Amino acid sequence: MQRDEQIFELIEAEKERQIDGIELIASENFTSPQVMEACGSVLTNKYAEGYPGKRYYGGCEVVDEVETIAIDRAKTLFGAAYANVQPHSGSQANTAVFHACIKPGDTILGFDLSHGGHLTHGSPVNFSGRLYNPTFYGVKKDTGLIDYDMLSDMAEKEQPKLIIAGASAYSRDIDFAKFREVADNVGAILLADISHPSGLIAKGILNDPMPHCHVVTTTTHKTLRGPRGGLIMMGENFDNPFGLKLKNGNLRKMSGLLDSGIFPGNQGGPLMHTIAAKAIAFGECLTDEFLHYMLQVKANADAMAKAFVAKDYNLISGGTDNHMMLIDLRNKDITGKAAEQALVKADITVNKNMVPFDTESPFVTSGIRVGTPAITTRGLKEDDMAYVVDLIDEVLMNYENETVLEAVAEKVNALMSDRPLFNA
Ligand code: PLP
Repeated sequence: MQRDEQIFELIEAEKERQIDGIELIASENFTSPQVMEACGSVLTNKYAEGYPGKRYYGGCEVVDEVETIAIDRAKTLFGAAYANVQPHSGSQANTAVFHACIKPGDTILGFDLSHGGHLTHGSPVNFSGRLYNPTFYGVKKDTGLIDYDMLSDMAEKEQPKLIIAGASAYSRDIDFAKFREVADNVGAILLADISHPSGLIAKGILNDPMPHCHVVTTTTHKTLRGPRGGLIMMGENFDNPFGLKLKNGNLRKMSGLLDSGIFPGNQGGPLMHTIAAKAIAFGECLTDEFLHYMLQVKANADAMAKAFVAKDYNLISGGTDNHMMLIDLRNKDITGKAAEQALVKADITVNKNMVPFDTESPFVTSGIRVGTPAITTRGLKEDDMAYVVDLIDEVLMNYENETVLEAVAEKVNALMSDRPLFNA
């Protein structure tokens, strides 16, 4: 078969883009060479519907071992009693939990998308808002912090069957114990979606949802630095929050419901190459080296937040406890969309993002979201953060000046040229 040069040239171009630029998208990271090797391995050829020891296909002895190792490592990493490593993505992990825990039409209570929540937490354009009855809590206007009184009031008023704690653009730690109190008051299942800060949580740097939440989901490709994918977990003592009975009178186990929520509920064959890559990434996360990495991600985010504040940027909540920050650009007279586009021209990647109480549409937005997982993997430290913020500021203050943007791109490329990536 002829090599598909057209696609491989594009892959090479994307590789150069990743090497040359400053990557600040909070949900992105650079996986290790061994994680990428597993993603490109022969395991992509194998069908393995079912679970280890209970497959619907022959020849699964090897992949059974791989999946079992991935499950065991995920459980050790998060102190979980149960883990399902098959979700193809964070969205499918959440879909499976909804499928397993509640019925179409049931009320759910999630974090408002425009305040920092995720599409799968009840957005009207997503399955979660179309199949279920979505209600929302948000942040306080004056502090930018989750409004726990509003959460509690909304729960009492709406009587949700499921409450979701977690966000895509919230820079502060989450009080999972408080969420549990609210959930218990109304008899709701509590799901923590820790997709963003899961690496920090795994290393004990942020509050642990496992003792408080019935179910925990995460993506594996953000702070966890693994392959693209999802993971579902439960801590101890949460195996039957519903007391559901099977026909023979035995209790229906929550773990069985979640497993069938993934397969056959909303996926067919698991991606065994990705599961192998997840196992490798979880192994990497279990090391002290990863703890140092996570501490550096947080230190970098903190230093970057302070540098933005020093330049009169308006950070929602005034700073960060985790790996990211959300910046309201309205005092800088530039929209999120214009900022994102100008920064790309200077080889700096961020994403435009709605800010709480935004006055712009989701396609334009008033803000940007910035995160440090990827630049920390590239080896940038606290001392580099003020310079990175200087470069961003230069772009935003001159966003229509192509000469300035080109000059900043040169500085960006120079900064990143001695930061190895992909062993290059
Ligand atoms: N949940 C949260 C909080 C997220 O931030 C994301 C992704 O950004 C997801 C779920 C969905 O993950 P995926 O893009 O893998 O479907």
